[in-house]
Amino acid sequence: MAGTATPMMQQYFDLKAEAGDCLLFFRMGDFFEMFFDDARTAAGVLDIALTTRGEYEGRPVPMCGVPVHSAEGYLARLIKGGCRVAIAEQVETPEQAKERARAEGHASKALVKRSIVRFVTAGTLTEEALLEPRRANMLAAVCDLRGSCGLAACDISTGAMVLEEFPPERLGAALARIGASEIVVPEDWSHDPADGVRRPPASFASDAGEARLKTVHGVATLDGFGQFSRAMLAAAGGLIAYLEHAGRGELPLLLPPVARPSAEFMAMDESTRASLEILANQQGTRSHSLIAAVDRCVTGAGARLLAEDLSAPLADRARIGKRLASVRYFHDDPLLRADLRRALRNMPDIGRALGRLVAGRGSPRDLGQVRDGLIQARQISEMMRAKPDRPALLEYLLPNLVGHAELTDLLTRALVPAPPTERQNGGFIAEGFDHALDELREVSGNARRAIAAMEARYREDTGTPALKIRHNGVLGYFIEVPAKHADKLMEADSGFTHRQTMANAVRFNSLTLHEEASRIAEAGGHALAAEEAHFEELTERVAQRSEAIAATAAALARLDVSAGQAERASEAEWCVPQIVEEPILAIEAGRHPVVEGALAAQAGKERFVANDCALSAEDRLWLVGGPNMGGKSTFLRQNALIILLAQAGGFVPARAARIGLVDQLFSRVGASDNLARGRSTFMVEMVETAAILSQAGPRSFVILDEVGRGTSTYDGLALAWAVAEAIHETNTSRCLFATHYHEMARLADTCEALSLHHVRAKEWKGDLVLLHEVTKGAADRSYGLAVAKLAGVPAPVVKRARSVLDKLEKGRAETGGLAAGLGDLPLFAAAMEVPADTRDAFRERLQSLDIDALAPREALDLLYDLKREANEK
Ligand code: ADP
Repeated sequence: MAGTATPMMQQYFDLKAEAGDCLLFFRMGDFFEMFFDDARTAAGVLDIALTTRGEYEGRPVPMCGVPVHSAEGYLARLIKGGCRVAIAEQVETPEQAKERARAEGHASKALVKRSIVRFVTAGTLTEEALLEPRRANMLAAVCDLRGSCGLAACDISTGAMVLEEFPPERLGAALARIGASEIVVPEDWSHDPADGVRRPPASFASDAGEARLKTVHGVATLDGFGQFSRAMLAAAGGLIAYLEHAGRGELPLLLPPVARPSAEFMAMDESTRASLEILANQQGTRSHSLIAAVDRCVTGAGARLLAEDLSAPLADRARIGKRLASVRYFHDDPLLRADLRRALRNMPDIGRALGRLVAGRGSPRDLGQVRDGLIQARQISEMMRAKPDRPALLEYLLPNLVGHAELTDLLTRALVPAPPTERQNGGFIAEGFDHALDELREVSGNARRAIAAMEARYREDTGTPALKIRHNGVLGYFIEVPAKHADKLMEADSGFTHRQTMANAVRFNSLTLHEEASRIAEAGGHALAAEEAHFEELTERVAQRSEAIAATAAALARLDVSAGQAERASEAEWCVPQIVEEPILAIEAGRHPVVEGALAAQAGKERFVANDCALSAEDRLWLVGGPNMGGKSTFLRQNALIILLAQAGGFVPARAARIGLVDQLFSRVGASDNLARGRSTFMVEMVETAAILSQAGPRSFVILDEVGRGTSTYDGLALAWAVAEAIHETNTSRCLFATHYHEMARLADTCEALSLHHVRAKEWKGDLVLLHEVTKGAADRSYGLAVAKLAGVPAPVVKRARSVLDKLEKGRAETGGLAAGLGDLPLFAAAMEVPADTRDAFRERLQSLDIDALAPREALDLLYDLKREANEK
């Protein structure tokens, strides 16, 4: 096979073998080319043309390519499309290749050496252009150590790293909480996610993981960072080994690991998160999600932290209390809040700038951002210290904002005010920082002035005012005169040497010009080298303080979240929730933040109706009935969201809220509401319900929305009945259960901690009015037909449904069987026919008419008569 491959193709195959299942970006001149299946995949994802190049084994080789200068945009799309990419660069110039070939005694044709310089994958991005400012980008590694799962997660754009351990059944919830964009698993991994990146099991050895962490952080023991289990260390090992692989030996910024016991958080599994639409709606976008309704952060880092808070609400009263106290502090002091938010608005993303610098992908602009951010952090600290009575959380954060004076002084002296993103062209080191550099710049400045003087002198000497000294990339500096003046300079003793003749102009050189030009070039080269050296040195100085800078970034993000939450709360009179131990839920005038916002946005539409909820040990399961569209789902979800917001440490949309700490939150929606997710819906509904029944406990909160709806009426009712009973008897969780089966009201007779509620509706002048009010008692009826009418179902169909319903109810009353009455139901067409007697009376009158004899006025009157008669019948 290799026999038919050209040397270049062989090089390609070797690199492709190294790239494994990553797409290979193969650098050829100004393009990254892809071949074979890679080309097909990429052309599909990027929607670019698929061509061919040469042949392999007698068939044309599929190829597509992207220009190097715009590769970042294409990379972003490939990564979004679920691909991973290996970048193979040319690592020598064609000249070097020729040289090498000659030295090695090869033939004339030399192949430029290429090697993979980096793997670009969703979880290992640091580039500003490839990251979303308001979303963390998490990479996770999981492994199973003798029946216990270890998890290591890291946001490599900022270096934050956490380690966790839990039993395998909590893996799904933990991964859902972290929301990683890439997950690394050992090759022999047998749990979900099945689509994780598979890596050699050896890289997940716990002792190797421990050793790696010690080396990365330069410590002899990890005790100073916390207590880590073997499973945590094994996962950390797998994560770091993968990062090393992706960066070809280079590691990005990694902060000391934080051990996180999983009991620290309120657990929510994947489907609960999806159904509560926390970070994204069911379609996967941010609009109408909880975070969109809550986020008032003014920095990207703040928004990322808020997303983390909402994905991982706390299950620890003390910590929740600390966050709440800090939100309250800013809530009660609007002026301080406004000042803080104004200051934060100009804050660069120093966490990510630091990440790029440490990863070796930094720019002078990143150094400038670190400088500006740290200076502003100090100002913010002063501003905060000017106010008394700070809550504990702020007291703890403030010291992290200061202590960088030496570094910021250095960066201020070293850098120009707005350093560029490119460093090849220099110009970012400030004047006065390095005298040698200033002198080099002085030399080229003097030489430039000398050249300007020279131009004036030459014009005079040659009597040619049109003479110019110009510069271009090919010739360097040269003298140019219009063709008609060239003769004088052509003379042998003129001191000028001819270089080039153009259509209208002739170009010359002179010895003095050459000398000055060399001085500029030499000084410029030295100056660039000097700036480059300063850049490395400054980057190193920043890297030495990376932990302290990351702590500043984290403190700023927390301030932004606290102030943002306070801002949100003050917009719509949210309240401070009270978190207690007893398993209660006492919400006064609670609202749904997203639905309320949506109603407010539609001017003139109805206002949101606030509702109470009062669960306790004695009354812990509410059955909520009432018509479709009555507001059952909204009521269920608003209570779940209020709990979530409270345990995330923020205010809640209610007049008052007392919440017994929740350890696990579950939300399930009956199958037919869930079609959009495109799975075998009833099966999914049951699998999810099973998970609740096996996991929910006395401290859990469960919302079940029309569970049992995905099957026939009898099955559905039976299942809903049994599930409600089980939650009441076995799980003893707090639960809101929405159902349209009013038969379930009978459960109240046997379940003493279950009570009946419904969303109110009334019929008014034949129309249905939905009041969206939750009140005590069973729903009197379902109003299904009224809802159908409201929805615009044609009147004959509604009428027909009414007669079917009557029969059904009659049959049930007589025999107890639901369908018993349907036997004597007339056929649809027959039922819709106009009764025979009415029809005949009309016909007779029409037949007896002599239309020609009618005056127009009479005809009209007759028509009115017929109409009235028809209405009466
Ligand atoms: P159900 O679950 O009973 O079918 P939903 O909760 O889906 O009803 O509510 C249907 C619609 O009614 C919502 O989209 C919203 O526009 C409106 N709605 C629900 N609850 C309220 C409320 N408390 N105040 C005002 N409008 C509401």
